[in-house]
Amino acid sequence: MKEGIHPNYYQAKVVCNCGNEFVTGSTKEDIHVEVCSKCHSFYTGQQKAASARGRIDKFNRKYGVKAEA
Ligand SMILES: [Zn+2]
Repeated sequence: MKEGIHPNYYQAKVVCNCGNEFVTGSTKEDIHVEVCSKCHSFYTGQQKAASARGRIDKFNRKYGVKAEA
């Protein structure tokens, strides 16, 4: 690898809003994220969230509320 043409590559500490911390390779030293693999709904409760959304849609249809105003 030639010197000077690549940005510095750190072992970045990533801190999530949920409190989880993990290390990843990055050009930044510190990264703050709002969701990570520990707390993102895709990994934690996607099905639960999807069914809740379905109930809200059903409620909105029943009472004639448009989901998007
Ligand atoms: Zn998280």
